[in-house]
Amino acid sequence: MGKVLIIGAGGVGTVVAHKVAQNADTFTDIMIASRTRSKCDAIVKAIGNPAIKTAQVDADNVEELVALFNDFKPELVINVALPYQDLTIMEACLQAGVNYLDTANYEPKDEAHFEYSWQWAYHERFKEAGLTAILGCGFDPGVSGIYTAYAAKHHFDEIHYLDIVDCNAGDHHKAFATNFNPEINIREITQKGRYYENGQWVETGSLEIHQPITYPNVGPKESYLLYHEELESLVKNFPTIKRARFWMTFGQEYLTHLRVIQNIGMARIDEIDYNGQKIVPIQFLKAVLPNPQDLGENYTGETSIGCRIRGIKDGKERTYYVYNNCSHEAAYKETGMQGVSYTTGVPAMIGAMMFFKGLWNRPGVNNVEEFNPDPFMEQLNKQGLPWHEVFDADLEL
Ligand code: NDP
Repeated sequence: MGKVLIIGAGGVGTVVAHKVAQNADTFTDIMIASRTRSKCDAIVKAIGNPAIKTAQVDADNVEELVALFNDFKPELVINVALPYQDLTIMEACLQAGVNYLDTANYEPKDEAHFEYSWQWAYHERFKEAGLTAILGCGFDPGVSGIYTAYAAKHHFDEIHYLDIVDCNAGDHHKAFATNFNPEINIREITQKGRYYENGQWVETGSLEIHQPITYPNVGPKESYLLYHEELESLVKNFPTIKRARFWMTFGQEYLTHLRVIQNIGMARIDEIDYNGQKIVPIQFLKAVLPNPQDLGENYTGETSIGCRIRGIKDGKERTYYVYNNCSHEAAYKETGMQGVSYTTGVPAMIGAMMFFKGLWNRPGVNNVEEFNPDPFMEQLNKQGLPWHEVFDADLEL
């Protein structure tokens, strides 16, 4: 029996709910809870399975969460609300004896700051309680770490250089829109860049380093070096890594809009006074931008995300590239959501499946690359995110 509670009814929550419902042999009892219950009900209606329960919950409130957990008694919570809620949900899991999985690391609301320390600090408490926490189980973080673990297990004695390359070659036909929660997305992209080299973090200006990278079935796309949270856990868990970087593609039109948004102060995350009312500009901006959940209908093209790795096997240098391409149209047809929500929600479901099958149970707080990647990789092929490998090619990086 697999009793699962999904928290969050946005783009990613919708995909998780569809995929969980499709795997009824693993997930026997399902509830979706979020701040706005009508959104959970709409997902259940779209899936067409009235046995899925829904609830309203404020995930910033530990007491409310504990009451919900004690009432529904899930074995695992899939947290696909916002990164701000990670710690309250983890705290509630400890109090109610529930296992935990998420797709993004904790971020304080008043500081665009990404690091695992806050969540890693829960390790001993989860361990003592005999509860498993699985961190960062979307695509990146998530599949990017599992690809790396799979490469380390099967293709390398030592990984030396890791480049995670994330391309969205889709077109949503809007002048400007973000593919997931705009507040979280803009905070991530406008921060300083950072990568790891020879035991140290090197800081760069925001989107300062860029170069064209050629993506399979897409072609060359200008790609920008960003800091991304999985770099922190990957260099810790694979200490032979000499350099680790993360690259993401952006179009010129997107970057121009982003620059204007920043220059006019709309990316600010501090409160301002407007006509006697306190507002946070980036939250106001979110309210007027297109809703990422509504982008799916006319979205064409595909995403291409993978890991390009160089290292040593049997004393010889080798390169390895493992990636997935995901069609926005196919994702929309299956779940009503675009490819970015799909590539996040499918791995979250697979991580939960690994837990319920007893393959990924390890009391404590774990990043995905600490588990056996093989059964996860097998499920990626079955659940809509097939992967491809290229050996000993020119990696461009
Ligand atoms: P959305 O904004 O579409 O959805 C977030 C959901 O969480 C909404 O239903 C929202 O409710 C709900 N929510 C927000 N605050 C609370 C609260 N206090 N209590 C209860 N529910 C709340 O975001 P996405 O679906 O696009 O993203 C979900 C998560 O996935 C984010 O953490 C994001 O960072 C992560 N992500 C990870 C990726 C990866 O590859 N690892 C890639 C993309 C996203 P309401 O509808 O009422 O606002």
